[in-house]
Amino acid sequence: MAKDKVSAEWGDLLFDDADMQERLPKPTYHELMRVIRDGKPLDLDIANEVAHAMKEWALEKGATHFTHWFQPLTGITSEKHDSFLTPNGNGTILMAFSGKELVQGESDASSFPNGGLRATFEARGYTVWDPMSPVFIKDEVLCIPTAFISYTGEALDKKTPLLRSQNALEVQAKRVLALFGRTPNRVTTTIGPEQEYFLIREEDYKARPDLILCGRTLFGCPPAKGQELEEHYFGAIRPTVNEFMKELDDELWKLGIPAKTKHNEVAPCQHELAPVFEDGSTAIDDNLITMEKMKLLASHHGLVCLQHEKPFEYVNGSGKHNNWSIAADGRNLLEPGPHPEDNLQFLLFLSFLISAVDEHADLLRMSVASAGNDHRLGANEAPPAIVSVFLGDALSPVVEALIAKQHAEAAEAERMDLGIPQLPAILRDNTDRNRTSPFAFTGNKFEFRMPGSRQNLSDPNVVLNTAVAEQCERFVDYVAERSDEDFLTVTMRFIRHTFRDHQRVIFDGNGYSAEWEEEAAARGLPNIKTTPDALGALMDADNITFLSKYGVLNEAECHARYVAKAEQYAKLINIEANTMCHMARHLYLPALASYSADLATGVATKAELGIVARAEKELIERLTAGIDAIYGLTADLEDVATNASGKSNPTEQDALCRDEVIPAMEALRGAVDEMESICGADYWPVPTYNDMLFYI
Ligand code: ADP
Ligand code: MG
Repeated sequence: MAKDKVSAEWGDLLFDDADMQERLPKPTYHELMRVIRDGKPLDLDIANEVAHAMKEWALEKGATHFTHWFQPLTGITSEKHDSFLTPNGNGTILMAFSGKELVQGESDASSFPNGGLRATFEARGYTVWDPMSPVFIKDEVLCIPTAFISYTGEALDKKTPLLRSQNALEVQAKRVLALFGRTPNRVTTTIGPEQEYFLIREEDYKARPDLILCGRTLFGCPPAKGQELEEHYFGAIRPTVNEFMKELDDELWKLGIPAKTKHNEVAPCQHELAPVFEDGSTAIDDNLITMEKMKLLASHHGLVCLQHEKPFEYVNGSGKHNNWSIAADGRNLLEPGPHPEDNLQFLLFLSFLISAVDEHADLLRMSVASAGNDHRLGANEAPPAIVSVFLGDALSPVVEALIAKQHAEAAEAERMDLGIPQLPAILRDNTDRNRTSPFAFTGNKFEFRMPGSRQNLSDPNVVLNTAVAEQCERFVDYVAERSDEDFLTVTMRFIRHTFRDHQRVIFDGNGYSAEWEEEAAARGLPNIKTTPDALGALMDADNITFLSKYGVLNEAECHARYVAKAEQYAKLINIEANTMCHMARHLYLPALASYSADLATGVATKAELGIVARAEKELIERLTAGIDAIYGLTADLEDVATNASGKSNPTEQDALCRDEVIPAMEALRGAVDEMESICGADYWPVPTYNDMLFYI
């Protein structure tokens, strides 16, 4: 039977299980599967055979090069292409690829951010293949997903701590499941990242230095029409955009990336793509490829894909919702089952999430902190900077009832009304949607909505996985200390106590409201509005102990990550400040000078004719005052930006960015935007929000 279009394309450029089975000798295939399953190192003979099969496959697909594809601390991906070409010595060539080349690469990576972890004299870094992640072909290059570590074994990338955290969670979750008599082979996390993005016309993009250099508009009056009519969300998709989305789907499917849902988002020009969830590290790899493909393919359609968290003021920014769950041999542990025992296990894992989020709210907030995301979190936009958990109408009453029962005094009473709650069946397809919550239970998974659209999702998942691992261990210890008691009784008590002790983090109301800020403060929940304030969590002694304990990040690695993030923030703000000064001096001031000069010529001519041009004179006065203001504010911004970037300590730089540079940027923007509102359209040097957001 002829295959349908999608099945025919699916995974064509991914060296997947079917390819391996077809091309590897049976014993080699089984050995590789064992390595993948048990996380064992790969024997060099096996690696040679695997590499050979991969190369043959890649050559058939037209590949010429291979690369170790990795995720340095910038969060984006890096690659260096080596061709398979090997001279034979007699003028002919061979296309070769060894097991060693597959498994390990050496990369002089001294110019990747490393937070001071490596001095340049020992700048060697290794890339190591993660056999869990299948290799794929991108633009005629065989890409091998790798972890990037230093000569001394420290993580220099985003993937290594993610894999470590997944491992920690697997170990601890298996201990919990063993108490329920379950011995799964694998416990994995599942992630479904919903990616938001903007598409604008390439010609508009090219006319705006701020978009080119910073990915967001640093100036611009509110558009005459914003998102208030709510007509864009789920609206009909523009034909050009649709062509882009179709090409994107095709390309992703060929790479075995399960692109599923596409639609228009709330803001004009804003769209979303959601894949079907996959195991955690594959989902993150695939999200990074998706982002790269989006940018690349947009250019085929005369469009530019903006992935910044806030490309335009006054309309919504873009996030990346991290749908997260945990599965034992493919069985979702956050899925309430039909039987009471399943519900006990479900409630237990639910309680782990509640306490994990409450205890590590600061680290979660840190994990999504960036200059771009500060425009969403902590501004008047979804979601708020306060980390709380939404459980919804179906589940909140169950939790409240459990907490209430806590008051039953005697152990006997507790045993008797064990009453493992029968969760309402509706819970399973819970469509209850609270879009204002940063961490929402959505039926059978949690949706963490704080990550920004541009970010690599490893950081938040590292925190989440490790925090849940810790709660799993806490439970195992709790049960072990009460070995003389009945398991059900002990478990119920643990769940009740956990909900009771962490109830403060549960909030089902409107997360955008001013009342919630007050209430959250009264509950003692942190409300961390800016990146400089959030990053400190990585230097906190308790947090370092916590991450070290589970082998996820040691003290030096935490410190390095802090430095890398703090530097990144200061650099980004500095680039924005420089770009603003440049635009003010080279675009806005000359435009305003010409417009006011032309007006003045007109006024003078009219005066010769005895005509008094009152309005034009007033306009000239306003324009001249505006020019003065912009001129002065540009100099002020330059001063504070130079001062901040001149400091050697990134913590100090960040504080100056927050306290001096950003306010100076806002002041300059205000002055320019005011002039935009009165300047003649023919004179205005860049496309406006109206032009950019409402193209056909
Ligand atoms: P929404 O109403 O939020 O759009 P969907 O059910 O469409 O909800 O799911 C959104 C995302 O969540 C998709 O990427 C989906 O694959 C993912 N998802 C669904 N179940 C899980 C799960 N068990 N673990 C992780 N992600 C999941
Ligand atoms: Mg969603």
